[in-house]
Amino acid sequence: MFDLYLNELIEWNKKFNLTAITEPEKIRLKHFADSLALLDVIKLTNESVIDVGAGAGFPGLPLKIACPGIKLTLLEATGKKVEFLKHIISRLNLTDVTIIKGRAEETVQEYREKFALAVARAVAKLNILAEYCLPFVKVGGLFIAYKEWPVDEEVAGAQKAVKILGGKVRDIKKIELLNSNLARSLVIVEKISPTPPQYPRRTGTAKKRPLR
Ligand code: SAM
Repeated sequence: MFDLYLNELIEWNKKFNLTAITEPEKIRLKHFADSLALLDVIKLTNESVIDVGAGAGFPGLPLKIACPGIKLTLLEATGKKVEFLKHIISRLNLTDVTIIKGRAEETVQEYREKFALAVARAVAKLNILAEYCLPFVKVGGLFIAYKEWPVDEEVAGAQKAVKILGGKVRDIKKIELLNSNLARSLVIVEKISPTPPQYPRRTGTAKKRPLR
């Protein structure tokens, strides 16, 4: 399944700009292995998972391939990426995958506090990303952000936003990717209380005026 995903990604990337990473070995490492880093910190069985700003499917689709029992929702704002997601899901014969085209701020009302886990990679700084992701998570669930290593400063700058949005940073895990010198930070945020209804603010506001 990973080989099929890799080949389709390379083919589609010739027509649409889906990823800057185009060499097979680099796709395996920087997209597939990196997406799977989360499985070093939590076990996934049949949870409802949302990938916010999924792009060409990372990290959500590698997690679904590795853990087929999860109920995955891929949220993505860009049309051509959504087209690729629809195509690859059908080619991989994946079930229990929902694709939503739209921005987090605009789609959250229907899906508010519905997911056990929200994940995101390379979408925004943590204080902005928390406003996109935490509203989707049930109290007791998790939001896990894929970040560069080190991430301490970014986390320190997001503590207030996370608290306002009903979260608490539980841990920061450093994951070293196999057979490489690449390290990834996973910032694990627990949802400890409901997100106040005024969040997320309307489209663009989280980015323009991040919570501090
Ligand atoms: N997560 C993928 C990855 O790691 O390869 C894609 C990363 S790409 C740099 C960021 C993606 O997030 C873009 O495809 C963009 O359209 C999407 N995005 C950014 N802000 C968003 C928002 N507020 N709601 C939904 N998608 C968003």
